[in-house]
Formats: sequence, structure tokens, C-alpha cells
Amino acid sequence: MLIILIIIGLIMIFLLFLSKQKTYWLPPKKGLVVLMYHHIGAITKQTEAGFFINEEMFSAQLEQLLDSGYTFLSFSDVENAYKEKKPLPPKSVLITFDDGWKDNFTAAYPILKEKKIKANIFLNVGDISAKKDFLSWEEVSEMFNGGLIEFASHGMNHRRLRSLTNTEIKKELLESKKILENKLGCEVKSFCYPYGAVDKRVRSLVFESGYIIDYGTRKGINSWPWNAKHPIKRAHIMAGESLADFHLQLTRGRYKL
Ligand SMILES: [Zn+2]
Repeated sequence: MLIILIIIGLIMIFLLFLSKQKTYWLPPKKGLVVLMYHHIGAITKQTEAGFFINEEMFSAQLEQLLDSGYTFLSFSDVENAYKEKKPLPPKSVLITFDDGWKDNFTAAYPILKEKKIKANIFLNVGDISAKKDFLSWEEVSEMFNGGLIEFASHGMNHRRLRSLTNTEIKKELLESKKILENKLGCEVKSFCYPYGAVDKRVRSLVFESGYIIDYGTRKGINSWPWNAKHPIKRAHIMAGESLADFHLQLTRGRYKL
């Protein structure tokens, strides 16, 4: 009897240990995995340190994806599959970067190019070629023409859309779309909410403006076909996470509760 109680006690302590932080005990979920990155490389802003993944770790994460047999998608792959109601390859991953930071070109792009991996960037269109920490249009073109990197809109000036008027929101949505389409020479159909700030009103304006897919900051893995009831969920990849944590991100959409 005592032995059984001890065993039960140990199991409970073990479960408590696991559940304290990590998501091991959650069942793995199949579907579209979308990874959210911001910066790759050396930290240039101490207050944002968590958003900087060093090159070594980024490389290791990509190797893990390659070894596990993931198919890398671009925005247009997801848009087309959604429009045509087609399935996605069983292990699909969409790598996304938010904002359009300079290091996406100087640090992330060389690694992606070397491994021939597709990735995608949501641009603060108003900051491109305007602020020194951000990409220039030349860099955007070079990456786009290389065939591995696609771009979509993150609005003009990274505004919290929920707190703007309809007219202001429309301006953020339409102006960024138009400029991007002129620069890239193709239609832009995906949008990502700055700060993840979205509600019903904002969302309906996004679709009214000609976007067909919206990306948010809620964590998780998306079932496919996407039901469009909520913005696409993403896994937040942050500094200080191990490769075991990365595995949880890929299979549970988060590594911590
Ligand atoms: Zn952002």
C-alpha cells in the first residue's frame, strides 16, 4: 500500500514539474505551423533583447526543421491553398518576420539563402527606406527577386489599429497595400496586425480592403483548411529557448503555458 502511495506521489510531483512551465503534456497538434520572428543576430536594442535570436540558434532551428521533414511555405502558397481549398503538405511551416528590420537582410537572409529556405516578412511599409534600422526598398527587391522571400503588409506606421477611426484604419491598410504592390509588382493579400491589436471592426476593414488572410499574435497551431473565424495563430520564437523548446513550438504552438 505504502509503495503505491509513494509511486503515485512521485508521479504527481513529476507531472507538476512538467506542467509548471512546459507543454510536453499537451497532445501534439497537426496543421499549419507559423513561426513569428523579429530580429536575427546581435542585440542592438537592450529593451527588446528577447526578440533577437542569434545566428547560431536560428541556423540550428532551420536544421531541425529540415531534419524533421518540414515543407517551407510562402505567403502565396498559403493564400493559394486557402483560395483553392487545397490541403497543405502534412508538415508545413511558414516562417514570418514582423516589421522589416535591417537584420532580416544582413543576418537572416544569408542563412536562408545558403539553406535554400523560404521565409516571409511583414513590412511596416512607412519605415522602409525611411529609418536606418529598417530594410531599404533595394534590399526588399533583392530578397524578393531571389525567389525565397515574400512580403506582406504590417500597415504603414505600426499603429494599434483598434484605437483608430475607420478612415485611419483604411488608410493604413490601403496605402501599405498599394505601395507594396507597386514595388513588388504582384498582389498583396496577407496582413498582420501591429501588436496583434484586432477586433471585429478592424478585421472586417482588413477583408474589405482586399486582404484574404490575416495574421495575429495568438499562440497556437492552425487547423487546415483554415476556418477564418480568427486570425492565423503563430508560435512566438524568442531568445533563450532551447531546441527542445523549439520542438514544442512546432508541435504545440507554444512551449510554455
Ligand atoms: Zn510589429
